[in-house]
Amino acid sequence: MTNVTLVNGDGIGPEIAQATKKCVDATGADINWDITEAGIDIMEKTGNPLPEETIASIKKNGVALKAPITTPVGTGFRSINVHLRQTLDLYSCLRPCKSYEGVRSRYSDIDLVIVRENTEDLYAGIEFQKGNDDTTELINWLNAHSKRKIGNDAGISIKPISVAATEKIVTFAFDYARKMKRKKVTSVHKANIMKFTDGLWLEVSREVAKKYPDIEFEDRIVDNMCMQLIQKPELYDVIVLPNLYGDILSDLCAGLVGGLGMAPGANIGDNGAVFEATHGSAPKYKGQNKVNPTALILSAVMMLNYLGKHSEADKLENAVAAVIAEGKDVTYDMKPDRNDPTAVGTSEMADAIIAKMKS
Ligand code: NAD
Repeated sequence: MTNVTLVNGDGIGPEIAQATKKCVDATGADINWDITEAGIDIMEKTGNPLPEETIASIKKNGVALKAPITTPVGTGFRSINVHLRQTLDLYSCLRPCKSYEGVRSRYSDIDLVIVRENTEDLYAGIEFQKGNDDTTELINWLNAHSKRKIGNDAGISIKPISVAATEKIVTFAFDYARKMKRKKVTSVHKANIMKFTDGLWLEVSREVAKKYPDIEFEDRIVDNMCMQLIQKPELYDVIVLPNLYGDILSDLCAGLVGGLGMAPGANIGDNGAVFEATHGSAPKYKGQNKVNPTALILSAVMMLNYLGKHSEADKLENAVAAVIAEGKDVTYDMKPDRNDPTAVGTSEMADAIIAKMKS
């Protein structure tokens, strides 16, 4: 029996967590779930959005399946998702984007993987609020040491990119490419403008690439990369990016394969892994048993593979693919008409996937 932490999340989180759990259980994977909470719902009850028990459980088990968590915009409430990744040093975010037959999309043959650095960049959480004493002190220091002047009405976010973290993530991307028998790694940056951060990223990417002569390496400037992914996605394979570009391009690539409902993900470190969908907590659909559970279920497929339970993973992925290809027992977002009355709910789509595994 394998111990796995299940984090319920908030918004649509608990519904898709339940749907996913029953699909995983139906594979026969023999998982012992430690069910935990995080997010707005538990904060309202206890005052703490990320209980110690949740972190302790993930640390103990080393593997978690996590439903989405809301991050309110423009408040003092920092992202729990970011905090969790930093606390557990889950430095890599892996997001495979693959076309499945039956999914409505402009593209039909996408198979690429985003590898996003998870701990640094503008997401490191080093921010200075407009008007604070610290911020004024920092602005005064910057104005004294730089030709460009910053006004006292500015807020400031710091963008650290280090050799150590870049080496780790680019190495992860190459190791992943080798393990999964992929052919090419593309490193994405804006080194022409941000020479000391993205420039460093590119330099380190090139150094790491030299250790993998069996895998092709190239780099792309991030804006060009966006256009290329829309025009010629078939040219790309494994794409490694700093945190912010990785976040944005993950959603772009999710769009290539039919949207957020189809995009799984994993945050992986040297001592553990948290598997979660790319999408968020979609609060407006909370409690309606309406949204698509596929992204979290495909994240669970990644988790089963990570745990070495490959036959269970294949069984679940094949059942998901079959249900989607049939197009009958799927949620509203997968129907040609979003108001189609034959669309099923979150839980019923999971039941159809389970029935497929048994058939
Ligand atoms: P979102 O992904 O929650 O939702 C955007 C829209 O995408 C929804 O309104 C819905 O139309 C669609 N959508 C999302 N998931 C779907 C699903 N499973 N099935 C069908 N349609 C789906 O993005 P948002 O509205 O920008 O974010 C809501 C909250 O989630 C924010 O607080 C954000 O910070 C948080 N968030 C959390 C995570 C995470 O927990 N890892 C990731 C992204 C966003």
